Amino acid sequence: MAASIPTPSPRLHTSSASSRRPLSGQPRAQPPPKIPGLVISPRRPPSFQETYARGCLNAAASESLSSLMTHNPSARGVTPAEAFSRILELCAAKEALAEGRQVHAHLAKSGYFGHPVFLSTKLVFMYGRCGSRRSAEKLFDGMRERTVYTWNAMIGAYLADEDPAASLELYRDMRVSGPPLDSRTFPSVLKACALLGDRRSGAEIHGFAVKCGLASVLFVVNSLVAMYAKCNDLDGARQVFDSIDVKEDLALWNSMISAYSASGRSLEALFLLRGLKGRGLVMNTYTMVAALQACQNVDYQKLGMEIHAAVLKSGYEIDVHVGNALIAMYARCGEMNGAARVFFNLVDRDSVSWNSMLSGFVQNGLHSEALQLFRDMQDFNQELDTVSIMGILAASGRLANLLHGTAGHGYVIRRGLDTDLQVANTLMDMYAKCRRPRLMGKVFYSMPVKDIISRTTIIAGYSQNDCHMDALKCFREVQMEGMDVDKMMIGSVLLACVGSKSLRHVKEIHSFMLRKGLSDLALQNRIVDAYGACGHTDYASRAFELIENKDIISWTSLISCYVHNGLAQEAFQVFLEMKEAGIEADYVTLVSVLSAAADLSLLQKGKEIHGSIIRRGFILEGSVSTSLVDMYACCGDLENACKVFSSIDRKELSLWTTMIYANGMHGRGMVAIDLFKRMIDTNLVPDHITFLAILYSCSHSGLIDEGKTFFTSMQHDYQLEPWSEHYACLVDLLGRANRLDEAYEFIKSMPIEPTAEVWCSLLGACRVHSDKRLGEIAVHKLLELNPDRTGNFVLMSNILAANGRWKDVKEMRMRMKGIGLKKMPGCSWIELRNKIHSFVAGDKSHPQSDEIYQKLAEVTDKLAQEGGYVAQTRFVLHDVGEEEKLQMLYGHSERLAIAYSLLESSGETPIRVTKNLRVCGDCHTFCKLVSKCFGQELIVRDASRFHHFNHGVCSCGDFW
Ligand SMILES: [Zn+2]
Ligand SMILES: [Zn+2]
Repeated sequence: MAASIPTPSPRLHTSSASSRRPLSGQPRAQPPPKIPGLVISPRRPPSFQETYARGCLNAAASESLSSLMTHNPSARGVTPAEAFSRILELCAAKEALAEGRQVHAHLAKSGYFGHPVFLSTKLVFMYGRCGSRRSAEKLFDGMRERTVYTWNAMIGAYLADEDPAASLELYRDMRVSGPPLDSRTFPSVLKACALLGDRRSGAEIHGFAVKCGLASVLFVVNSLVAMYAKCNDLDGARQVFDSIDVKEDLALWNSMISAYSASGRSLEALFLLRGLKGRGLVMNTYTMVAALQACQNVDYQKLGMEIHAAVLKSGYEIDVHVGNALIAMYARCGEMNGAARVFFNLVDRDSVSWNSMLSGFVQNGLHSEALQLFRDMQDFNQELDTVSIMGILAASGRLANLLHGTAGHGYVIRRGLDTDLQVANTLMDMYAKCRRPRLMGKVFYSMPVKDIISRTTIIAGYSQNDCHMDALKCFREVQMEGMDVDKMMIGSVLLACVGSKSLRHVKEIHSFMLRKGLSDLALQNRIVDAYGACGHTDYASRAFELIENKDIISWTSLISCYVHNGLAQEAFQVFLEMKEAGIEADYVTLVSVLSAAADLSLLQKGKEIHGSIIRRGFILEGSVSTSLVDMYACCGDLENACKVFSSIDRKELSLWTTMIYANGMHGRGMVAIDLFKRMIDTNLVPDHITFLAILYSCSHSGLIDEGKTFFTSMQHDYQLEPWSEHYACLVDLLGRANRLDEAYEFIKSMPIEPTAEVWCSLLGACRVHSDKRLGEIAVHKLLELNPDRTGNFVLMSNILAANGRWKDVKEMRMRMKGIGLKKMPGCSWIELRNKIHSFVAGDKSHPQSDEIYQKLAEVTDKLAQEGGYVAQTRFVLHDVGEEEKLQMLYGHSERLAIAYSLLESSGETPIRVTKNLRVCGDCHTFCKLVSKCFGQELIVRDASRFHHFNHGVCSCGDFW
């Protein structure tokens, strides 16, 4: 029996167990026992000898065998026993059970049993090798006399039958009632221990071998090393290895090196390799494969390349095993160029070579290359193993390449692999990534067996493809059938909840999680997200409070939740608390807070965040660059917005869109148009949002013709169907230019049902141009559409109030109350010395309130004397007396903010006021006059746009 050399498995990490049976567990795959050469007499008939020498067993062989039996064999120089023995060995080597049985029958019939024990032992051996444990056992049990060979043969038979426990049991019987052991007994029983991972029995056998004085026999040593290695006792293996003085046997070195490689102790493997070379031993294929396995780690890549170079220098032709090991080594080190060089220089590639290359491409994210190789493999008629086909499906998914994905699916069906659970799961994932949820569902429902991964995959696939209800339905099935649920599945279900914005579902899943104890930090964070997405900031904040060890993601989740629900101030509060808790903000947090700063127009805060982004070394690109531009623009600092914008090298569509919108917001329509053209020159294709930004810009700068051109271009040049938002923009554009009838005609010609937004645009224009008739129509339509936004109601009551229809205003207010809407009080705020000062109309709560009102009175006096200011009480939309109206007007929140700014600031920097509602006409005049009489620049952001007041003029051109 050959020494047990750990089998080289060059694709240890890339090949699946199912595609290649591990050789170490397959005694049958061991090299056949060596048969000593025959001494052949020249006068003997050649047929049997020839047949034997050729190693083929066919009819001719048995014919010659029978002739051997019938004639006097001893005359031919070979005894019948010898002849039978050799033919049985041949049967064993070829695993030819049928022929073996024939020989057995022949033996029984002829009644020739010259040496019964000897031949019976051979028969046991043959049956064992041929996988017929039963026959071997029957013979073994029936033998009255057994030698050590008989026992060894039976122990081997159990091993061949993959029953190492039976081998060990028989070994124990042998110790009790059998003949004394010989050295050949050990490799088999040690292998049995290795297979069972039974280090204790192995060590005990080791001890017995020492007692028998057989522990230093070379192949016993090899088996011991292999046994300890397989039982994860590498140090034990090394001790045996070191105990041998004469280490000239390469197989011994190979065993030890493989053992180290296989358990990831690369350094020791490579150290041994050096020792081997130092002794003048020459590496063979096994050594190279084992050593290269040790180099499958970027740290040892250089050594691997050295081995490669040594192999090339030695003139040794790289065989397929070494080649495959080289490919695997290069692939694992991320050096696919090196792998490809080896691959293309290999003389004969086997399927392992192809599949290693393919898996290498997939593992290194070279998906296109993997798909190319997949095509080549089909051209070369190469079969893919399961790992490779799964790799192809994964690569197709990553690239969202449905064509290759379906080709892979076709291959799977042709090879009958579609019933393989893992393959089917990968197929589903591929279809999910290619955004084909229906095809994914088809695979799922045709699977004969499904596991938790299948269910998690389909739920995740549906969630990611916006089929939220399907995802929830699948989850319901899982619950109803009482199947296992893991955290990953819950995560996907929560994603579906976020998508469906259904509070009921989130609550259900939340309580399910709590009941099943399936909660972990990631899921708790997602619960916060989910409540936030449903608009329930109170639940989100409660869920957040319940998290024991909040991490940066928890904090960011809550901050984002507030930002998305328009609660920027709360978001800032949480951001502060987070800093106090000693948690450092990451990229995502900063983007969220930037958007809160933008919402609140907190320039100082925004600048601070910008500073910390730079200090922290975050690269300005993607969402951060867009958020920064947006923040500066929303804080009225267009100059800095431009600076950031210009500094970004790779400008994405969203960045251009934000910049266009920013200019539009500030009434710089021509700049916006110029940006749009520059963007087109960079070969970017505008989308719906970009067009919305440019239409908005045109409308806010009164660029009617340009706006109309963009509206047409969007449909004809870019095949984009306008959304109702685009129509609303165009109505606004026409209304602004007092082309109200045209606007109304345009609305009537819309191919889609006009939304509240569209009517609201018309209503806004009617208010500015005092068109009562169309205004009434718009109000009528809006009431029909049942607007549930406060803004719409406010606008409507304003129109009615301006027309003096106080009764209708009252009714409108009742109606708002009825559906639980509150009229937001006007609120303005300024940021002064890093503090936010906010004022509501008629506010007296500020500590410096008296001073503020005094200052306001002074300012108003000066404006009246120098600028001819006369209060226009028609802007007070309450049914009260003239004097009261005047008082109300003077108490408008932006005036309080401006008065406070004039009181506190130096006048060198512009005063920046943000207001939650639109500025009223009288305050607009007030601001213009302040800019004129005080030489003070004012930047007011109201609910609809920016007003830059300078030298008595506003950038909005008095239309907002
Ligand atoms: Zn006002
Ligand atoms: Zn203005």
